[in-house]
Amino acid sequence: MSTAREGFGRAAVFEAPNAPFAIRRYPLRPAGPGEVLVRVGMSTICRSDIHSYQGRRPSPCPGILGHEIVGRVVEVGQGIEADLRGDPVRVGTRITWTEYFHHGACYHRDVLDMPQKCRGLEKYGHESADRPPHLIGGFADHCYVQPGTGILCLPEDLSDEEAAPLNCGVATMAAVTEAAQIRLGDAVVIQGLGLLGLYGAALAKARGARLVVGIDPVAWRRDLAARFGADLTLDAALPARDLVEQVRAACRPDGADAVIEVCGNPDVIASGAAMLRAGGCYVLAGVVTPQADAVLDFNLVLRRCLTLRGVHNYHPRHLVEALDFVVSQRARFPFRELVDARYALEEIDRAFADAAACRVLRAAIVP
Ligand SMILES: [Zn+2]
Repeated sequence: MSTAREGFGRAAVFEAPNAPFAIRRYPLRPAGPGEVLVRVGMSTICRSDIHSYQGRRPSPCPGILGHEIVGRVVEVGQGIEADLRGDPVRVGTRITWTEYFHHGACYHRDVLDMPQKCRGLEKYGHESADRPPHLIGGFADHCYVQPGTGILCLPEDLSDEEAAPLNCGVATMAAVTEAAQIRLGDAVVIQGLGLLGLYGAALAKARGARLVVGIDPVAWRRDLAARFGADLTLDAALPARDLVEQVRAACRPDGADAVIEVCGNPDVIASGAAMLRAGGCYVLAGVVTPQADAVLDFNLVLRRCLTLRGVHNYHPRHLVEALDFVVSQRARFPFRELVDARYALEEIDRAFADAAACRVLRAAIVP
């Protein structure tokens, strides 16, 4: 908290795609009404941060990237008393929060119960650093948690490595596995065994799946998936027809109850649909960039009575569920190992290079 006393916060500023980050100082002011000032303990580099950095998705420059943030409360603004569950938010409390914030009543929140789709929604790590209070991203030593954010207090014995992915990967997969309607005894296929897929495998098991099949082209990720609940893993480099055949043979008698796409490649959608049993459910959660065009015989969807769903972001309840899931299942699954590299704020260029090249699973910035 030394910099708070000195009156400034330090941030790694994203000034242009694919250019080195610049370490800059921004003035710290008292937390305003509905705000919480946090000293950042850890922020992990998400695949979407890498997409922003590479210029593959629009993100303002200068900006402060990073939304998977864990930190300790430095100052509580007027009107903030409790977290999503009613636990007190005080100076010194360790918290995470929803990756987005919104500006009050709207149709999506009040009628549809989808606050994650509110008009005017803003996201941590996606705002201009020129706009006060400047510090609303994770790759900085302080962050102003904004009004309209769902805050969640963290148990002290949960490590930063276990806590940082909660508000992105884990909460998203809580929403995805809910949408997939996984029930006791189900057979579930997961296309893509990155961070989302690994949490997805563990969540499917925790929801009672009898069989989880993971598909990925990277051998070490398939090996890791076995420790996160995958009973069978298949090499995504196999011909699509072989993959469908092997999944259908494993998921007797009629195919998988649910298929989850978290690999980001629209080419897998046709084979994913072909793996499902009659009445099965397909959830798309990885094809997050536009132009994810795919060819699919929709007669198959009709004839097999399939459900096709998209999931993007999550409801605040999924953040609460994500925390409860990790706390209750951390002895069964090695969540802590998923965040496998730490970097100082000044080392952020190396961290992004390592993350982009998949040399690490989840890189963490420790400012
Ligand atoms: Zn993320």
